[in-house]
Amino acid sequence: YGGNALLGKKCFALRIASNMARDEGWLAEHMLILGVESPKGEKTYVAAAFPSACGKTNFAMLIPPKSFNGWKITTIGDDIAWIKPGKDGKFYAINPEAGFFGVAPGTSEKTNYNALATLKENVIFTNVALTDDGDVWWEGLTKEAPAHLVDWQGKDWTPEDGKAGRKAAHANSRFTAPASQCPSIDAAWEDPAGVPISAFIFGGRRATTVPLVYEAFNWDFGVYLASTLGSETTAAAFGAQGVVRRDPFAMLPFCGYNMGDYFAHWLKMGRSIEHAPRIYCVNWFRQNEKGEFLWPGFGDNMRVLEWIVDRVHGRVGAKETQLGWMPKFEDIDWNGLEFSKDDFEALTKVDAEAWRTEVESHKEWFAKFGDRLPKQLALKRELLELAFKPKAA
Ligand code: GDP
Ligand code: MN
Repeated sequence: YGGNALLGKKCFALRIASNMARDEGWLAEHMLILGVESPKGEKTYVAAAFPSACGKTNFAMLIPPKSFNGWKITTIGDDIAWIKPGKDGKFYAINPEAGFFGVAPGTSEKTNYNALATLKENVIFTNVALTDDGDVWWEGLTKEAPAHLVDWQGKDWTPEDGKAGRKAAHANSRFTAPASQCPSIDAAWEDPAGVPISAFIFGGRRATTVPLVYEAFNWDFGVYLASTLGSETTAAAFGAQGVVRRDPFAMLPFCGYNMGDYFAHWLKMGRSIEHAPRIYCVNWFRQNEKGEFLWPGFGDNMRVLEWIVDRVHGRVGAKETQLGWMPKFEDIDWNGLEFSKDDFEALTKVDAEAWRTEVESHKEWFAKFGDRLPKQLALKRELLELAFKPKAA
């Protein structure tokens, strides 16, 4: 796992903290925290859990499209959150880290301007390629590769090697730099009181089946959705690529106790608090039959985030599906992006056939937890199975 390239900090910190959180009644999570500032100056904070290499750092530093005049995203953290109930009945989150730790390949001024700007100085890189003038390079940093590099294994590399499929930088090469250097860092990022969380967002890489965004009907259903979170395998973890692996709450590698008990802790925390955040699922990675992404992602994820913020403040409607509340085409701000209603249909389709298979695989997944699985979740799964049952002839 990439995190070990620098220190065992992530696994150790989260496993210890998740135990403390269970015992003391809070949440230690694998989550980014970001602030959304509207043109009117309204500030809404959300926390999001995506498995490793599924876009946390990018999302935490998102730059809204030009058409989102006056909207601003500020960054509290890009990876880990300690979340505690406040006296006002809301959850408050802090980022316990000092810096950012990101996947290098694909990071460019175009895809994550703020991450790149953070890397101007005081940086540690692992497994990137070296340029002849002592700088670093990775696939996706620039459109054209330099004429000569020393690759991540210390071997000479030219664009010819690239064409032959040899990467100059390891697919899971990384950078780390102080968070204070990030242009989007939030003024409150070191406030020990934390920031109030209005929504939890869960997402993974799913080429099929999972729609762009949906809002859980309630806290417990949100816990169900997060406990069955799946992602197609990437370079961050060993194993075959393109296979759906369950990574509940993006915490499977990081939870320090029985995962079934962890689900129960989440159910309990929702009941313990007066203003529980709403829970959302997102998927930036749905593809067409040609294997192309249906969604532009990156800065355009702002369009989804705005819908979530509007939902949280009770300003926008939604359409009901078996999976929860989903945006109507006309409720998304399409300014500056050409996106047809048909494309939106494809991106947000809830395919009953695919979901029957999905919910069946949730059953196998839940079986692993034996009697530690909260009954709530088993019942939720049965209800979802019934919701997708073909209508009797
Ligand atoms: P993290 O490990 O969860 O922090 O993930 P990163 O933000 O470092 O991103 C991991 C990879 O996903 C990088 O190659 C990104 O370029 C890519 N990525 C991030 N956000 C998006 C998105 O919205 N759409 C697509 N297609 N790729 C993304
Ligand atoms: Mn990251």
